[in-house]
Amino acid sequence: MRKKIVAGNWKMNLLKDDAIRFAEELNQGLFSTDNRTTDVFVFPGFTLLEAARQNAEYFKIGAQNFYPKQSGAFTGEVSIEQLKDLNLDVVIIGHSERRILFNESNQFIQEKLFSALDNDFTPILCIGETLDVRNNGHHFSFISEQLAAALNAFNAHQLEKLILAYEPVWAIGTGITASTEQAEEMHCHIRSWLTNNFSLELAEKISILYGGSCNEMNAKELFSCPNVDGGLIGGASLNAKQFLSIINIMNGLF
Ligand code: PEP
Repeated sequence: MRKKIVAGNWKMNLLKDDAIRFAEELNQGLFSTDNRTTDVFVFPGFTLLEAARQNAEYFKIGAQNFYPKQSGAFTGEVSIEQLKDLNLDVVIIGHSERRILFNESNQFIQEKLFSALDNDFTPILCIGETLDVRNNGHHFSFISEQLAAALNAFNAHQLEKLILAYEPVWAIGTGITASTEQAEEMHCHIRSWLTNNFSLELAEKISILYGGSCNEMNAKELFSCPNVDGGLIGGASLNAKQFLSIINIMNGLF
């Protein structure tokens, strides 16, 4: 049985007091939830990590980014060792904002995956096509290529902790969501890719989240798709009440 997961990506939003208030509200909400079957992660910015982690009781805090070198002259960067030092063990890798705005290449993303897995972190690897790619009908091959570029240096055993997030770039922060058909067929494609390139066992184990303008209005239909195992939520994760509603939609399914 795959894990059901709802994760919130705060990006470069909120301040320390907001993080503490959010944690208190979410703790309270989760405490009074009967059917707490969904794993919940929140990814605040670096400066909020410690306050958020100290206050998170029923959910886990992870980092949005890190630099895949152990230590050294990399001004402004944060290593996985430093994240470990904050008692963290979950990271997002390959988010389209990092790929596009910060020119993170497939090779660099693979390096980050190595670093995360080597250090026993759970990576959430994001993949997703742009609107051009979809309009040209190349979305399935594009996603296969992104998966191959990130994962081809690993074996199935090394990838047991991996979580994937399908996040079509055209749906992120746009208010446009993939339809249930588009989400389900891509998640099926990703699972078949994992079966063909690794094993059915691994493909059945890896949770594949959907991300892109997911909110409390559309979460139920998206999460009801058999191959959608949860969501990576941006904008709608900034408010504890909204985020809790999305989590409870997941808790209420299956
Ligand atoms: C994201 O950036 O991972 C995301 C899914 O954002 P939003 O929900 O705001 O589209």
